[in-house]
Amino acid sequence: MPLEDIRTRIARAEKEAGRDTGSVRLIAVSKLQPDDRVEAVLEQGHRVFGENRVQEAAGKWPGFKDRFDGIDLHLIGPLQTNKARQAMQLFDAIHSVDRPKLARTIARLAQEEGRCPDLFVQVNTGEEDQKAGVLPAEADEFIAECRGLDLPLRGLMCIPPLDEEPSLHFALLAKIAARNGLDGLSMGMSGDFESAIALGATHVRVGSAIFGERVSAAG
Ligand SMILES: *Cc1c(COP(=O)(O)O)cnc(C)c1O
Repeated sequence: MPLEDIRTRIARAEKEAGRDTGSVRLIAVSKLQPDDRVEAVLEQGHRVFGENRVQEAAGKWPGFKDRFDGIDLHLIGPLQTNKARQAMQLFDAIHSVDRPKLARTIARLAQEEGRCPDLFVQVNTGEEDQKAGVLPAEADEFIAECRGLDLPLRGLMCIPPLDEEPSLHFALLAKIAARNGLDGLSMGMSGDFESAIALGATHVRVGSAIFGERVSAAG
């Protein structure tokens, strides 16, 4: 079973890196997957999932939450400020905090709602125009700003450029996190989660290797 295979590979990578078994959380990325595949993974006992669109998640997760206890839902895609409240009500963690306006909005809503998801700052390690995230050179300042807002900042997240060696990006993200005293590292996807674990990933985001190809190419 793909889920079991991935768990086995994660455990092996943890061991090879000299890390504790279970120190890496597997986020099963269910975006654009048919409900029956998601349900099959829920039936196998898995509870940590990732989605990249608020709208799509709002359509499918309330129903699953009614039927399965203990679901831990992570937003891994870009967040518009006008969807922040909905995202904060639906998700347990947001991995895409990447600009002051969004950080301030989340801080204000956290006061109003009396709760705040765990937050990760997304860093655009490849400095790609089309990609979200703060630039590496601006990361320290933005992290300080988030702390100044009293946000529950757990770590950093990156999505390496498709055509580059991901390890370089994982190492850069780990370095920025270390110098800022953050221990959460959301990095590694289906094709590269083992090298992410070797470089300190605490959260890997694995979609197609668990569920199979996505139904639409749009994600
Ligand atoms: C889709 C997605 C993933 C999962 O990608 P796979 O290659 O299917 O494992 C991980 N992270 C983010 C941010 C994504 O959008």
